[in-house]
Amino acid sequence: MGNAQIQAANEALLATQQSPLCFLNFPEQGSVKTQNVSGKVTDSAAAATAISTGQKTVNGYLGLDQNKARIETLAEALRNLGRKIGILTTVSLDHATPGGFFAHVDSRRSYSMIADDLFASGFDYFAGGRFHNTPNVDAYAEENGYTLIHSFEEAPTSTDGRLILSSSLNFGDYGVVPAIDGGARTDWLQKATDLAISRLTNPAGFFMMIEGGRIDYFCHYNDAASFVSELIDFDKAVQSALAFYLAHPQETLVLVTADHETGDVTLTDGDRGALLRQTISSDQCDDTLVKDCIAAKTPFDQALPLFVSAFGLNDLTADETAALKEAYYRTIQNSMPGNTSDEESGVYDPITTACINLVAARAGVVFGSGGHTAKEVSLFALGIGSEFFSGDYENTHIHDAILQAVAAYPIS
Ligand SMILES: [Zn+2]
Repeated sequence: MGNAQIQAANEALLATQQSPLCFLNFPEQGSVKTQNVSGKVTDSAAAATAISTGQKTVNGYLGLDQNKARIETLAEALRNLGRKIGILTTVSLDHATPGGFFAHVDSRRSYSMIADDLFASGFDYFAGGRFHNTPNVDAYAEENGYTLIHSFEEAPTSTDGRLILSSSLNFGDYGVVPAIDGGARTDWLQKATDLAISRLTNPAGFFMMIEGGRIDYFCHYNDAASFVSELIDFDKAVQSALAFYLAHPQETLVLVTADHETGDVTLTDGDRGALLRQTISSDQCDDTLVKDCIAAKTPFDQALPLFVSAFGLNDLTADETAALKEAYYRTIQNSMPGNTSDEESGVYDPITTACINLVAARAGVVFGSGGHTAKEVSLFALGIGSEFFSGDYENTHIHDAILQAVAAYPIS
């Protein structure tokens, strides 16, 4: 979530007469350098480790320094001080960012070891997608003293005990389905945050980390409207944190930041409102709309209105229509037996790629990359101890400053 992503989402909200992102008004702001231990572009594992332990490490490592020595995370230190701990994400529970707060492994892809560390953490609350390869996860959770649920409806009325919400709103990468696709996913992260607050609030205090994990995902795939939707979805979770702060202003610190920028996004003139007219993710488009058109051999003239509606592409010019037509024919051609999919045009079917590219072009969102970049990211701080977060610093400072704030404002 770089600065351009934040600006795109905020301007899309303003273009459609909605309230701006709530965290832009936080009183303290910092600029965060995200490079890993060797000064290279970070991945989510090294960045999460830097933020959670105060030490830079190698890409792929979680909770280990560059020599593979185990380092205590902030969440573990605060757990040991008697605080309750919550870890929330929209991607899988064994993914790099959540893992950076409880796991100690030298590969972010060691999913079963990350899951083992999750169950051994003693943290009080987890919410996210599924586990990659932990069979019998329900029994495993029970053995480790956790109640495991798959939907909010199953949440126990008692707020005692440890809880894992592993959402049944499943997606191909084991995370929770994209926000833009709506349905039961609408406000999922905010609901997970509200549930966390209800369970973690206690006299000894709590720490929670909430990740809008698909902002990065859709920047990798250059789907502008979908990353904006994830960012606005994340902002709703921040609104819940803000409400908690307003009820407890003398004892709450709220931080909003990113682990790195993805997509090398820049903004040019454009209609940012176009970002909120797309109502389907690129993934969902491939899996439903495109699949159905291929199965039914839908002619272009009949398919076009479906894509126009799903992506909010009103008032197509002749050139835009021609580009979509060409992409649609390529999609149909690729689906013929013996033809392999067109890898050159990206991970999505050509018509899906053409639609997301058109939305981005109309909105003035330009992607320079499909990967992470070295751009600095912002940090927004509100509440007690927020004064420790102004200025320009390395991501490791976030860990140090949180512990400074904890020491400066003891729970009375
Ligand atoms: Zn990424």
